[in-house]
Amino acid sequence: MGYVDEVIELVVKKNPAEPEFHQAVKEVLESLRAVVDANEEKYRKEALLERIVEPDRQIKFKVPWVDDKGQVHVNTGYRVQFNNAIGPYKGGLRLHPSVNLGIIKFLGFEQIFKNSLTGLPIGGGKGGSDFDPKGKSDREILAFCTSFITELYKYIGKDMDVPAGDIGTGAREIGYMFGQYKKITGNYEGVLTGKGLTYGGSLVRTEATGYGLLYFVEEMLKCNGKDISGKTVVVSGSGNVAIYAIQKAHQLGAKVVACSDSNGWVYDAEGIDLAALKEIKEVNRARLTEYKKYRPNSEYHEGRGVWTVKCDIALPCATQNELDLEDAKTLVKNGCFAVAEGANMPTTLEATQYLQANGVLFAPGKAANAGGVATSALEMTQNSERLSWTFEEVDAKLKQIMINIFHNLDDAAKRYNAAGNYVVGANIAGFEKVANAMMAQGIY
Ligand code: NDP
Repeated sequence: MGYVDEVIELVVKKNPAEPEFHQAVKEVLESLRAVVDANEEKYRKEALLERIVEPDRQIKFKVPWVDDKGQVHVNTGYRVQFNNAIGPYKGGLRLHPSVNLGIIKFLGFEQIFKNSLTGLPIGGGKGGSDFDPKGKSDREILAFCTSFITELYKYIGKDMDVPAGDIGTGAREIGYMFGQYKKITGNYEGVLTGKGLTYGGSLVRTEATGYGLLYFVEEMLKCNGKDISGKTVVVSGSGNVAIYAIQKAHQLGAKVVACSDSNGWVYDAEGIDLAALKEIKEVNRARLTEYKKYRPNSEYHEGRGVWTVKCDIALPCATQNELDLEDAKTLVKNGCFAVAEGANMPTTLEATQYLQANGVLFAPGKAANAGGVATSALEMTQNSERLSWTFEEVDAKLKQIMINIFHNLDDAAKRYNAAGNYVVGANIAGFEKVANAMMAQGIY
């Protein structure tokens, strides 16, 4: 049995009942076979793979809090500090009832390689709780966040571990946690990112993932002899990533003709009206059914189906596993030549393989949506400098980071005879930097 298979087997045996973690390790390690085979003796001697799949630390803690009726509740908090070979642990805090240790470990493991790809000095971590923020009052959210950070503060710090937002953790939650951290420690420091602009947040963070996705796509097309200008684009979702992906696509001269939410999708042959979409989603927090009121010539369709719209470029920006094999076949049949993931894992494995086998340029989320965490790292830099950069300054840095990410993974894929396979390229490029840093720092 090869080294990769041995380590996958070990992970399954040592971490029972963590299927998401097994899946993530399997996906990453399998795409690293070429690198591992080329360095097998060295890596085995150093137990490099065994060390990279084992988190540095897993913190699990009690989060008691009181609801508005005086009832006490107890949730479980987690922080997995996975790997700090190239910088302080960095990764979001997910607040969702589905959260368990295996999910946090899967996300933390993936985060190591995504963060490495940004080229910035950030290690991998992830955390969260099985607390459900839906339907909670502001006071209850404050009670939970205060209790959560009152325990977590012991393990984080601006040079040690810098958590951020994720599902269920937005600017409000980050604000409450930052306030309590400051109160306990007395330190005004960049210990959390995703902060409000008046107390250390960064301009462009809101736009970063969507803008970054388009900067990546622009470069990928350019290097494959194509131009994004004049192309027809379909975006799924209509949340934070989707909205700013649509905005940047329009700025680059493409036309986005469809987008979706969890109920249905709209088709607007003249191009999605971004001002209308923002008003519906960001201001009124309404459904896409409203879109027709702003654009009478558009069409609204219930259910899935956004991938049936003919396009040159598809950008899944909603949720995991939203683009399956059937969708991939439809896209190819309709002449789509590029798919780039704005969301985390939106394309199923079979769909990814089908797209790649049919010559579609496929950009994995690990690389294509890394603009969000990259801009969080820029927030850390600004906090350390005690300066705030202008919108243009941050945006220019974001663009350069996304261009570098593309070339980094393009080069890695070429070095290992997998030219054009950006999935393999992303995993190899992310891994190599971390592996080299780990081996240079002795055994830990
Ligand atoms: P939002 O919650 O702002 O938006 C999610 C969008 O997806 C909403 O329009 C939502 O519709 C839609 N959606 C959810 N489930 C489905 C579904 N089953 N079918 C169709 N549409 C669906 O999230 P974000 O935009 O922030 O995140 C989107 C994805 O990008 C996630 O995978 C996230 O992990 C990833 N990501 C986000 C980053 C960021 O900076 N925000 C950074 C990196 C990755 P509805 O309104 O009906 O719920």
